[in-house]
Amino acid sequence: MRLPHRLVLIALLVLVRALPAQAQAPVSYRVSFTAPEHRWMQVEVTFADVPAGPLQVHMSRSSPGRYALHEFAKNVFDVKVKDGRGRALTPRQPNLHQWDVTGHDGTVVVSYKVFGDRTDGTYLSVDATHGHLNMPAALMWAKGLEQRPSRVEFVPPAGQAWRVATQLMPTGNPLVFTAPNLQYLMDSPTEVGTFTLKTFTVDDGKAPAQTFRVALHHDGTEAEADAFAKDVEKIVRETLPIFGEFPRYDGGTYTFLSDYLPWVNGDGMEHRNSTVLSSPGALRVPAQRQGIIGTVAHEFFHSWNMERIRSRGVEPFDFADANSSSDLWFGEGVTSYYDALIVHRAGLQSLDDLLGDYASLINSVTLSPGRTFRTAEHMSELAPFVDAAVSIDRTNWQNTFISYYTWGAAIGLAMDLSLRDLSGGKTTMDDFMRLMWTEYGVPGMKGAPGVVAKTYTAEDLQGRLAQLSGNPTFAREFFAKYVQGHEVADYAKLFARVGLVVRKRAAGQAWLGGAPLQPGTGGVRVGVVPFETALYKAGLAQDDVIQAINGVEVATPQAVNDTVAAIRPGTSVAIRFVRRSGGAPVTSTVTLDEDPRVEIVTAESAGVAVTAEQQALRAAWLAPRARR
Ligand SMILES: [Zn+2]
Repeated sequence: MRLPHRLVLIALLVLVRALPAQAQAPVSYRVSFTAPEHRWMQVEVTFADVPAGPLQVHMSRSSPGRYALHEFAKNVFDVKVKDGRGRALTPRQPNLHQWDVTGHDGTVVVSYKVFGDRTDGTYLSVDATHGHLNMPAALMWAKGLEQRPSRVEFVPPAGQAWRVATQLMPTGNPLVFTAPNLQYLMDSPTEVGTFTLKTFTVDDGKAPAQTFRVALHHDGTEAEADAFAKDVEKIVRETLPIFGEFPRYDGGTYTFLSDYLPWVNGDGMEHRNSTVLSSPGALRVPAQRQGIIGTVAHEFFHSWNMERIRSRGVEPFDFADANSSSDLWFGEGVTSYYDALIVHRAGLQSLDDLLGDYASLINSVTLSPGRTFRTAEHMSELAPFVDAAVSIDRTNWQNTFISYYTWGAAIGLAMDLSLRDLSGGKTTMDDFMRLMWTEYGVPGMKGAPGVVAKTYTAEDLQGRLAQLSGNPTFAREFFAKYVQGHEVADYAKLFARVGLVVRKRAAGQAWLGGAPLQPGTGGVRVGVVPFETALYKAGLAQDDVIQAINGVEVATPQAVNDTVAAIRPGTSVAIRFVRRSGGAPVTSTVTLDEDPRVEIVTAESAGVAVTAEQQALRAAWLAPRARR
């Protein structure tokens, strides 16, 4: 459409008038820990050069990388508002998350206290040892001022030498930081306290070399901190060759904000130039450390895949509502596929453990009833219901949902092995990730920090798979079957190609279908019963109590398993149980299936012939790639 000349001029004049008169004063925060032992902190935020009219001040309802609503306003109290002359103003609250301030003089100062007692990647935690801030849980912001820079000053408790670890931009004052806009500010978790700091640099051949900081709040020894930082460096170095380069982190620095203490909650949350890692586990316990390292690998991979290779569905992030994307199977699931692979390539997880992880992915996706109801894309869209979302009513997720982490990881595994299969090992998932990086991640970084300028869609993912494989039919069928359909890849065939055998892990043994069992009153209480399994068909549901199987009284889960193990698959036997609702015991017939779950082992260990080509393909897939 073309406007007549005169109308264009008028339109331009209107536009110019509508622009604010060079009023871009930064939003200024002062965050004080006056009595941290009481688990609240004091925030004072000054909005200056505020346009005339009401200023809408908000507390966020969601947080980048967390897709459910979290209602952060619930922990805010003692809210006071004044103008630039110190005059008290009374805000109106049109809803629980918003304070509308009228009658100001161009400056609005909001002060409040905010309570926080959960250390993880989503919430706020304040105590005598630290302030652990996820910004949406901590800082108010104003509508219309989202593009303004901000300044954040941290005020430690009196007499305490607390330091600050954050991806916020440093200034000459070690307690003062800046952010270029609201998206970046909200994406910048911050640890204030007396953490251990380890630093290393890794050169990817491009200037400047990127610096990595590990800010570690834990109760272990200095030697444990050193060993952990060395493992983090191994993960960083092993991730690099997949993409060929690091993102140019804003400020040239990436920070691991790590809290490993008995009283914290396990989590990992990705951000643009940092991650929050929290675990109640300890670095000194090998089994706990393995999980901790897996989370390191996962979140660091996100600094490419999610933070810069970013789905259109979550950009820009909406702090006032739940965020939903059909691509989380790729953003989260493929990242999960890689975290285990990277930990293995880095020498920090055995082949048996890796194959155990992959077998459990295959078992979950193959056997979960949810696959028949929704696709991997639909599962992704459910994130606001399942991603750290709490409901007090019971759900039937075990029957209707498969985590997009699990399903997406299984799809990533199938995509990688299919590409290797089709190309004889010349093309891999690493190439696919690198293509996504050059086509979306690199151009995505051309915008302001905190903003991804070029995003991808599902069509893009499929198109790039067609481009990389040179086989549009393969790409179309792969997406139609496994991403937008309900099918499971032929993992046995794909693993055979790399000299690995997928086989029943308990061939010839019966099972009840995988319902959780626990000791109950007068028998064994069952958890959610998966659809169409033996117990389901026999009429059992959650909280029913099994008393006897095949005439054998069972008092413990072990007794149930032992009794079932003694019966041949395909056999029908009597099962006596009491319904949750009580009444007389019910006797029904249960027909036992063969345990369908698989395991993955090397062809050599299974006594299966393996060719040199299969061995070479396997080695190319699993071998370390980092330069050491
Ligand atoms: Zn993730």
